[in-house]
Amino acid sequence: MPVPSPDTQSPGAQPRAAQSPDARLTETLRRVWGFREFLPLQREAMAAVLAGRDSLLVLPTGGGKSLCFQAPALLTEGLAVVVSPLISLMKDQVDGLAGQGVPAAFYNSSLDAGERAAVERALAGGALRLLYVAPERLAGDGSAGFLDLLERAGVAFFAVDEAHCISQWGHAFRPEYRLLGGLRERFPEASVHAYTATATPRVRHDIVEQLRLRDPEVLVGSFDRPNLTYRVFPRSDLAARLKTVLARHHGEGGIVYCNSRKQVESLAARLADWGSRAVAYHAGLDGDTRSRRQEAFAREEVDVVVATVAFGMGIDRSNVRFVVHAGAPRSIEHYQQETGRAGRDGLPAECVLFYSPADFAAWRGLLESGGEWDEHARRLLNAMQRFAAATRCRHRQLLEYFGETCAGSDCAACDWCLGELELVAEPVVLAQKILSCVVRLEQRWGMGRLVDVLRGRGSDKITAAGHDRLSTFGLLAELSIGELRGYVDQLLDGGFLRQAGREYPVLQLTDQGAELLRGRAECRLYRQERPRKVKAKTAKRPAAAEDWAGVDLELFEALREVRLDIARERKVPPYVVFHDSVLRDMARYRPATPADLLEIRGVGEKKAQDPGPRFLDLIARWGTGT
Ligand code: ADP
Repeated sequence: MPVPSPDTQSPGAQPRAAQSPDARLTETLRRVWGFREFLPLQREAMAAVLAGRDSLLVLPTGGGKSLCFQAPALLTEGLAVVVSPLISLMKDQVDGLAGQGVPAAFYNSSLDAGERAAVERALAGGALRLLYVAPERLAGDGSAGFLDLLERAGVAFFAVDEAHCISQWGHAFRPEYRLLGGLRERFPEASVHAYTATATPRVRHDIVEQLRLRDPEVLVGSFDRPNLTYRVFPRSDLAARLKTVLARHHGEGGIVYCNSRKQVESLAARLADWGSRAVAYHAGLDGDTRSRRQEAFAREEVDVVVATVAFGMGIDRSNVRFVVHAGAPRSIEHYQQETGRAGRDGLPAECVLFYSPADFAAWRGLLESGGEWDEHARRLLNAMQRFAAATRCRHRQLLEYFGETCAGSDCAACDWCLGELELVAEPVVLAQKILSCVVRLEQRWGMGRLVDVLRGRGSDKITAAGHDRLSTFGLLAELSIGELRGYVDQLLDGGFLRQAGREYPVLQLTDQGAELLRGRAECRLYRQERPRKVKAKTAKRPAAAEDWAGVDLELFEALREVRLDIARERKVPPYVVFHDSVLRDMARYRPATPADLLEIRGVGEKKAQDPGPRFLDLIARWGTGT
């Protein structure tokens, strides 16, 4: 329901004279959302909105961006207009706000004439604090009447969500976003604020430019997601390992990303055979089926979605406990975005990447045939390959990729730091064999030839070049292509080799590689074929370890049932009722009254009154054993 009922209390209508902006924000955060602290950069981002200074906020998925425009919207004179690319997302956000007692609505093509008129009336009457719209509403043909309406309502600020959609350098370019620059002239008094999880400087620059932000406050947060545990495996025994991952997360939400529709269908069928509540999702399914399945996942009626990257932007299920990639994505940006959908509630979650050299060859083929195989695409793909093969902390690698430095040496939340990777016994000897073959090939050949020569694969081309007569021919005949490539990737990542040349990258030794070849440097390599058994450890940083301490798990499950009932009655996804973290605290502290409920992080005044008591009833009955 897009328009709040008349009895909805307006949280903006509280007395707030003589309070500093910061105090007002703190008070609003606590009263409406039940949050006692700001997440990193939230305070600064909200202050910029209140000060009417344009801003760009870059935070990873789950970093709490929405609140940065929602909370100030309750404290500014005038309307907050939120530009969002997806209709399904709008509805969930508006439902969520309604649950907190915040008057918000959306205005898009899913509304019928009557609903549209109701929103228009609410706008004219000044009854709304936030209005969600699609970008095309604000620009181009047919938008004039709507813009007049906004002008009369008085716009305090525009919040452009998923702002990277404006950039061709991002991974989700939406041409409609380009038109938003025009808002500047039309609403000179309103400030413009952009929000994105895409961190690359190029995209950032594009956003500032295209939206014509004026002297914006640019806030870029840390991209570390300490609650995510990263693991990487060669794909050789996908089935067995995937089964283990699913077993670790039985009954929990997860996404399995595949690179092709065919793989989606076959894996989804297999998961169903194994007893998972799993569905397939890809762009080949009709729109109805897709939205039904997405909805079922959001409502926790299915646990696992096996999907292509078509499944993504619109999902806001915060308790996704695992994201599996059954094949390598085409860039670290994609990987970050997709794994970022795990653990948005801040609780531990697991990200498992299965890869094979074939994935990268397939991407290359696909990008070539689509005319997209340029320097940029190649660099992104190479970086992804390097990430998969690297022998370093995965958190550190990701952070460094996005230009951050990383404090600390042990993340305790990746296969490397958890000690799950097995080291090669004599890495220097293995590395020297590979490096010397690069030298024998006169540093003029690429990965494919190097691997063929080392494995001793004869072919006419190899004979013609005389490479079958090299002393290194067949030196590593016992290794599979995948293993050998993995070791070469590790040497690339370690800085012992580099790739040079544009169209046909050739392998060359770096100074460090030359030292290693002479036995004057050390290296470590991890085995590409890994033992089957992985200890079922997940992130165990102090915060994560406490997450389930003292929680009555049975009560937690029972509370989930209550939540599911309420979600069904109100036709909203369960997380809109309460997040998992709230249920967990209920099952830990067993609140008895609405006032007790307010002590829990994530419960505001409205929800403590409704639907809080339904949970209190269950807890009370639980306590007496009935
Ligand atoms: P993003 O849009 O950056 O992906 P969201 O706005 O969806 O992130 O927020 C992610 C989660 O963090 C949500 O569950 C939200 O309720 C929670 N959250 C936001 N701000 C706070 C805060 N100050 N304290 C605790 N939790 C918060």
